[in-house]
Formats: sequence, structure tokens, C-alpha cells
Amino acid sequence: MRRVSVKIRLAVWLTLLMALLWGVLLAVMLSVSSRVALRTARQQLTDGVRSNLTQVGLTEGKLTMGESFHFYQNGVSTLVYSRNQSLLAGQVPVSFAGDEHFQNGVLRTVSGAEARYLVLDMWVPSGWEDGVWVRGLMEEPESGATTRNLLRTALIALPLFILLAALGSYVIARRAFRPLDSITATAAAISEARDLSRRISLPPGRDEFSRLAATFDSLFARLERSFEAEKQFAADASHELRTPVAIIKGACECALKYDETEEERLETLTMIQRQTDKMARLISQLLAMTRLEQGTEAPRLERVELTELIRGHCREQGYERLTLELEEGVAVRGDAVLLTRLLQNLIENAYKYGRPDGRVWVSLARREGEVVLSVRDNGIGIPPDQQEKIWQRFYQVDGARSGEGGGAGLGLAMVRQIAQLHGGHMTVDSVPDAGSAFTLHLPAAAETSEKT
Ligand code: ADP
Repeated sequence: MRRVSVKIRLAVWLTLLMALLWGVLLAVMLSVSSRVALRTARQQLTDGVRSNLTQVGLTEGKLTMGESFHFYQNGVSTLVYSRNQSLLAGQVPVSFAGDEHFQNGVLRTVSGAEARYLVLDMWVPSGWEDGVWVRGLMEEPESGATTRNLLRTALIALPLFILLAALGSYVIARRAFRPLDSITATAAAISEARDLSRRISLPPGRDEFSRLAATFDSLFARLERSFEAEKQFAADASHELRTPVAIIKGACECALKYDETEEERLETLTMIQRQTDKMARLISQLLAMTRLEQGTEAPRLERVELTELIRGHCREQGYERLTLELEEGVAVRGDAVLLTRLLQNLIENAYKYGRPDGRVWVSLARREGEVVLSVRDNGIGIPPDQQEKIWQRFYQVDGARSGEGGGAGLGLAMVRQIAQLHGGHMTVDSVPDAGSAFTLHLPAAAETSEKT
């Protein structure tokens, strides 16, 4: 049974259940019908005897009977006996044992030779001492025969009933499982074609299959994002690592061939060290971004004293020519490590793209509906047509590639990602040759007042 499809199993169980219900229903019907038949018979007997009572009497010791007296009506036989129980009128049915004692007004069942009888006797007095017995007899409705008839009909109908039930159950099961077939087919197609962009897309509903399909769709979406991120990582990494690797390779070949003095070798080694540092920085940045994108490094949101965090970070790093304009006591729900990374990227850029004697300002304030953190410089600025593009991975404004020690164009992409993970966004205000201001906007909901 385990290897059989769920549809067939369900159909079999449904059929068995229906057959069981059929049996129970039959039993109930049999018991009810025999009870009803008995009650009806008792009522008929009582009515028959009662209607005859008024028609019987003794006049001067002689039996008198009215015209409406019926010896046999509606299956009820009526007999009239004298006081000492000898039959005066009527005919005793052959199958009834005639020696049954008389009991006034007691309806009872008596077993005859071949059948069972319902018996009701009534005493009709005449004067003080005399009177007659009126006895009603009725064959007890034979429940056995009814039962047999019903059972026979049920048995004849049973195979047809089971066939219909099985067919009906199978059709119902097939209809119910149709969405599952579509889910399986789509999942198989996705797996065979390795096309993660496809979706099951069942119409939205509240049933189990719609929920299952929606879960699968979100799983495919996640997988697709994850594969895309991996592909992007591999492409970016190989593209960006190729340059420093080529430089290192060239430097090694050159050193082996031409470097003769200790000084020359030291110079080459220093250059190689700078390139490997750059590669290490790049790899760790790429990894951090990919993890954030894939959700493997989920932000740990907790209360962060933002004013304190900024002040502490700037003091630690010992930045020069930096002005802090911080509103006191600003706290947000966020990830302290990520927020520090964001701040550091912005401040480092401000110095990198500032003037040699330029200044940097870091400000923090509560504004209507948001908390605003801004890093401003009076450096080279960014041309208006490039201000949208600087957020893309590896994008660098022309001429910004600041040689061996410079970044790879990942800093601002990560800054934006961190802002989004906190439910916020970044803006830039920049004027070429005047300076830039990068601003993090966090929704006021991110601000938290209670200490946790
Ligand atoms: P990287 O600094 O490694 O090049 P980023 O993603 O941090 O990469 O920045 C992307 C580009 O945006 C930089 O190459 C630079 O051209 C420009 N940029 C970033 N910050 C500033 C700034 N404060 N002033 C001027 N240009 C900037």
C-alpha cells in the first residue's frame, strides 16, 4: 500500500468509509423500521378492540352484537368469550394456542404454534356479576422478514455502491491533488532546465497547496538571489583580483631578472606587499557584501547609542581636521558593527577625496520623522551625472582610482546596503570642487528611547 499513489490510497479509504457508513445506516434503518412496525401494530390492535367493545353486550344472558362489530379488520381478529372463558363468537386463528389466560387491558405478546401474536383482552361487564371477554389478536409484524428483505436489497446494491463510491472518491482525490501535480511538474521543470527564474505561481488562496506553492516560490526566489550573488561574486572577484595578481607576477619576474641591489629588492617587496594588502581588503569586502546580500550575516539589531558610537570611533581613529556636530543622546535600533563600518567608509572617502588641508564634518541630528547622520567634506566633489552611479559596485568616478592604495569602488555599495538593512536610505549632495555630503537617513521608528 505504501508504494501506491496517495490518490488511490485516499480513494480506497474513502470507499471503505462509505461502505462502513452504509452498513451503519442499514442497521439503524432496520432497527427503526421494526420498531415502527411494532408500534403501529399495537396501535391497530388497541383501536380494533376498542371499537368492537361498544358493539358487544349481554341481554338477559344472551350475547348481543352491534352492526359495526368486525370479526376481522386491519389484521385484527376479534373473539368474544363468556365469563368462564368459553368461546361465544369469532374464530380462533389456527396457529394461535387458545389456552392463553385472560388479563384485562394488558397488551402482550404470546407465542403461537407458528407465529407470535399480540393479544389484548378487555372485560365488558353486564350487571354486577356477568359479562363477556373481548379478545383482540394480531400477528406480530415479522421483523425477520423485513430484515431479510432489506438485507437482500442491500447486498445486491452493495457492489454497485462500492463501484460508484470508488469511482467518485478517485475523481475527488484527483481533483483535489491536481495543484500538487502542477507543483511537481514545475519543480521538475525548474530542476531539469536549471532555470531558477521560473515560478509555480498558483493563484493565491488559503488552502494548503497555495501555501506550499508560495513557499516553493519564495524558496526559488531565494535560491535565485543566492546563485546570482555567487555568480556576481565570482565575476567581481576574478575581475578585480586580476590586476593586482598581474602586477605581483610582473614585479616578481622583473625582480628575478633585473633586481640586483638589496634596495631594489626591498622596493619590489614593498610593492608586492601593498598589492597583497589591497587584495586582502578586496576579498574581505566582497565576502562581507555577499554575506549581507545572502542573509548569512544577518544584522543583529539592538539598542545602539549612536552619539556615543560616533564619538568613540572618531576618538579611536584619531582623525585630524574633523569637526563633530552631534546631538546628544541619540540612540537607534541597529547593528553597531555595521553602523561603524558605514561611518568609517564615509569618513575615509571624505579624506580620500578631500583636499590635502581640507576639513571633514560629521553631524548627527533628529529631524522630523528621522535620524540623520551626515559626513561632509570640502573636497573634489562629484559631477552631477555621476552621483547616481557611485552607489554601484566597482563604480569609480573617472580619475578616482587612487593608485595602489585606493579602494575598488565597493565602499559606497556597502554603505547603501547597510542603510537599507536598517530600513533607511542614503543621499548625496555634492558640488564639484566644493565638496560632498553623504547622509544616512534612518526612520524615526529606528530611534529607540528605552534602555534594553
Ligand atoms: P572607492 O572609494 O573604493 O573608490 P567607493 O564606493 O567608496 O569606492 O566610492 C565610489 C566612488 O565615489 C569613488 O571612486 C569616488 O569617485 C566617489 N566618491 C566617494 N566618496 C566621495 C567623496 N567624499 N568625495 C568625492 N567623491 C567621492
